[in-house]
Amino acid sequence: MSLSLSARTDHITQAEIRVMTIECEKVGGVNLAQGVCDLGVPREVVEGTVEAIARGYNNYTRYDGLPELRQAIAGKLLRFNGIEVDPETEVTVSAGSTGALYCACMALLDAGDEVILFEPYYGYHLNTLLAVGAVPRYVTTRPPDWTFNPQDLEKVVSQHTKGIMVCTPGNPSGKVYSDQELRWIADFAKEHDLFVFTDEIYEYFVYDGRTHRSPASFTDIRDRTIMISGYSKTYSITGWRIGYSSCQKQWADAIGYVNDLIYVCAPAPLQLGVAAGIDRLEASYYSGLCEAFRKKRDLFCSTLTEVGLTPMVPQGSYYVLADATRLPGSNSKEKSMYLLTRTGVASVPGAAFYQSEAGRNLVRFCFAKTEAELEDACARLRRL
Ligand code: PLP
Repeated sequence: MSLSLSARTDHITQAEIRVMTIECEKVGGVNLAQGVCDLGVPREVVEGTVEAIARGYNNYTRYDGLPELRQAIAGKLLRFNGIEVDPETEVTVSAGSTGALYCACMALLDAGDEVILFEPYYGYHLNTLLAVGAVPRYVTTRPPDWTFNPQDLEKVVSQHTKGIMVCTPGNPSGKVYSDQELRWIADFAKEHDLFVFTDEIYEYFVYDGRTHRSPASFTDIRDRTIMISGYSKTYSITGWRIGYSSCQKQWADAIGYVNDLIYVCAPAPLQLGVAAGIDRLEASYYSGLCEAFRKKRDLFCSTLTEVGLTPMVPQGSYYVLADATRLPGSNSKEKSMYLLTRTGVASVPGAAFYQSEAGRNLVRFCFAKTEAELEDACARLRRL
């Protein structure tokens, strides 16, 4: 036997975001391939963390999180998401929502199980499924509002399908699933006996009077839904790695054991910092956050329109897919590279979000940047 990589690494490639980030650094450009909120960590969250360290919360916690955070999350799930959960048995705090999804997939999926993924998808969703040996089945949504219908779902379901992944608000599309679409998904999941995995990390980033609706708030699918979210984006703490899943005890127990095996627990004082944020921050914090990003969206999208890169204006999240047909290049990578070379603005090629050809004329920008950076990017794009 010779040394070799595991077969599962065949599927797991370096994220296109990282590739474009490296290319962007080479030309000293503005990196809209990747973003982080620039609003700063709320004072309440920092203070809660500092207090926790001073009070000695520096050791392992229970594998599914400290009671303060599980209770705070349960309170928020009831107030904001309309989901009633038992903080003792139905919430698992994990290493970000990424960790929460990985644990859920490890606990609930076997190799060969099929999971439906809406295209354009978030690469980590696909790669997490592949890492556990699950088989993605794709439903391609239609721009500009990224729509689908119940027949699209029926076309890809088989006797091996075990789950469906719903990312709302979506990355990269910014799609906020409507009540009707979620009703279709709920009926479909019941009819075919599927798990519904959600990713609601952008739940506070919804625009134009829309509200975030959690799939698990449909009570008839609550028992089969693994609700996943986290605080990376809401509190600008992407490096802290605090996220969670919430689901029925039967599933939460197994997810918790996997979480213990892989991460042991999420960072103890940071858990309390997030709990303090949830308990102490007023509703105006979340509406202010949303408004700040709406302004950035509008500024950036109007520039895209001006320069002929027509945006599919996002309903939520902080990404925008734009039509790059006018750029030279035979595929989205060439178009994205042209844009970088010509203007110094880095984007992600649309192909990174599709298994089909549908992304070939798209590029994705992230507008979670400082105002100065965003204005610089707009000025550069006008040189096109
Ligand atoms: N889910 C989506 C849709 C994302 O876009 C991202 C980050 O870009 C994440 C999850 C990562 O979340 P976390 O930091 O909680 O792992």
